[in-house]
Amino acid sequence: MAVKYRHALAPALAIAAGLVFVAQPAEARKKKDLPPPTGTLIENVSGLTPDGKGGVERFEALLIGEDGRIADVYAANDKRPERVAYKLDGAGRVMVPGMIDAHGHVMATGFARMTLDLSMTTSLDEALARIAAYAAANPELPWILGSGWNQVTWGMDRFPTAAELDTATGGRPAFLERVDGHGGWANTAALAAAGITAATRDPAGGQIIRLPGSQDPAGMLVDNAKALIEAKLPAPRPSDRDTAFAKAQLVFLENGVTAVADMGTTIEDWQTFRRAGDLGNLRMRIASYAGGVDDMVLIAGPGPTPWLYDGRLKLAGVKLWLDGALGSRGAWLKQPYADAPGSTGLPMMTETQLGNLMSRAAIDKFQVAVHAIGDKANSTVLSAIDELSNTYKGDRRWRIEHAQIVAPADIARFGEHGVIASMQPQHEASDRIMAEQRLGPNRLTGAYAWKSLQNAGATLAFGSDVPVEPAKPFLGLAVATSRQGVDDQPPGGWQPQERLTFAEAFSAYTSGAAYAMFAEDQLGRLAKGLRADFLFIDRDPTTASPAQLRETKVTETWINGVRAWKADGSTAPTGAPASR
Ligand SMILES: [Zn+2]
Repeated sequence: MAVKYRHALAPALAIAAGLVFVAQPAEARKKKDLPPPTGTLIENVSGLTPDGKGGVERFEALLIGEDGRIADVYAANDKRPERVAYKLDGAGRVMVPGMIDAHGHVMATGFARMTLDLSMTTSLDEALARIAAYAAANPELPWILGSGWNQVTWGMDRFPTAAELDTATGGRPAFLERVDGHGGWANTAALAAAGITAATRDPAGGQIIRLPGSQDPAGMLVDNAKALIEAKLPAPRPSDRDTAFAKAQLVFLENGVTAVADMGTTIEDWQTFRRAGDLGNLRMRIASYAGGVDDMVLIAGPGPTPWLYDGRLKLAGVKLWLDGALGSRGAWLKQPYADAPGSTGLPMMTETQLGNLMSRAAIDKFQVAVHAIGDKANSTVLSAIDELSNTYKGDRRWRIEHAQIVAPADIARFGEHGVIASMQPQHEASDRIMAEQRLGPNRLTGAYAWKSLQNAGATLAFGSDVPVEPAKPFLGLAVATSRQGVDDQPPGGWQPQERLTFAEAFSAYTSGAAYAMFAEDQLGRLAKGLRADFLFIDRDPTTASPAQLRETKVTETWINGVRAWKADGSTAPTGAPASR
């Protein structure tokens, strides 16, 4: 039997959420013609919401209807409704809309929690020690898999090698993804399993890093070369995927993220989301962008799906990859890398191929999101959008994912055709030193240029790119308003002219991100008629310093007017939860 995503609040669930049943006066009960009271009034909150025009509005109470939508919002002196079914005293706590992560990788986030996490390692030796310990603790695993390492954080100016990895893994194959997902580190057994030798050519859009002075593979596989190994990995079983998805949902909920744009959904990912939806275990909202035109058609057929499971899942469009990342020198640049003068990066397709794929999606009204990191990649997408806009008219909301390095001359072009700049503030803090090495000092004017792109007329939609960066929107808000990392560096902020106000950054993580997924009439603000997705947090973010902002704790996460997560560990029971 299909699980119905109910709206009538079950009494047990209401009491678990701290709601108080409102007893009706005897006279009211006697009047047979009076309908039973409905709705939940949450009073005495310090409410903050984007106003949809770039500012922030305050309120003190919120009425949730039986349909999980906001029935009304009340400022200090507004009259409250007389008859409601439940009341909750907010005790003055700060309430904000659920954060929306405009760019994440949902299944990879879950799988990262099931494999070896090297994201906290600060040296190669520390990483090798962790890998050896993990290998010893998991003797049954046929492959050692993991992710999150970064040679820049290790203080190395080269990639680690297969021989180094062999010292920790012995003869068992191992493959460890680099933090940006654009490269992987294989040991000798993994290279052998994939048949990669000195004679193997680099695949299109990929590179097999070679040992100095030879053709022998060194162990590092960049961009499309990763697929040589990935094809040999044991495929996760459907039950593994379900476990990973459950872990991923928890990551988002505990960080106050109520909706995410999943960038690169495969048919297997989609089926995992659907299985959860069918069983009532789909707790958050996901707007999927299929990982290519083939998956797009396989998942959705003739056009984007409607929102399914009471607004929790839809296939919105397609994600296309035009280039790689800066860290692995895959980003496509107009001029050669400052630290690799022979290379301008790894475009994954030609301009014509890109135009054809965008056209294939747009003709059936799928939304198009293109990954573009280098300045050449960004100008190429902008040109494609310019050309396609002649044919595909109307509200298209073309998305450029990352938009990291934009040539100053191209910034104004973001204002044309309603382009959405889907950017990740945490990347700026993590990558700025590496970006200076890759580009040199004179090509950074349009790097992570949030303010300039916004001024040019682009809609900003902010996200984390989780698992590349943690799915922590309050960390992102701190970076967005300070241009400083968790170490408060550099003093005064990096390229501080690109800093945003709190209201601007807050909007990019809420109403802007909702707009970017065609959901601004449902999500992103706390206003009448929108979904009651909100958080309680432990401080007022409008008066917090960057350091205080990144320490913000989410204490409760509510979706569709029902508490989906609470910091003390109690979550809505699955099976009928998120439903309501
Ligand atoms: Zn990404």
